[in-house]
Amino acid sequence: MEFTYDPENIFAKLLRGEIPCDKVHETEHSLAFRDIRPQAPVHVLVIPKGAYMTLDHFLAAAPDGEILDFWRAVGDVCEMSGVEGGFRAIMNAREDGMQEVPHFHVHILAGRPLGPLLG
Ligand code: C5P
Repeated sequence: MEFTYDPENIFAKLLRGEIPCDKVHETEHSLAFRDIRPQAPVHVLVIPKGAYMTLDHFLAAAPDGEILDFWRAVGDVCEMSGVEGGFRAIMNAREDGMQEVPHFHVHILAGRPLGPLLG
């Protein structure tokens, strides 16, 4: 599958510092920030700094070091966010996955009972 990344998407602008974000964590290859429309007391988005559209694009195209850095950053965010009661990690992809922003991101949701996944 071919992936055509749009460098004008909102998370690309955020990575370039053109729009602000509520940053909670940063690593060499990843950035984590609070979602502007939180769906739970904890709602953090973790994104790679590289130009990847979706999980499958990221895993197909990113160097191993970026993939490891990214998932370690997800772990860091869980550790620093108070997810002892449990959490949900969500990755939407493309139209059928209802992805709004075409830059790969993981939602980390926690802090309340999250209900059935496909309810
Ligand atoms: O997975 P999906 O692409 O649907 O989610 C995008 C998320 O990015 C939404 O939860 C939205 O609230 C969030 N967002 C944000 N800051 C922006 C634009 C969108 O946190 N400037």
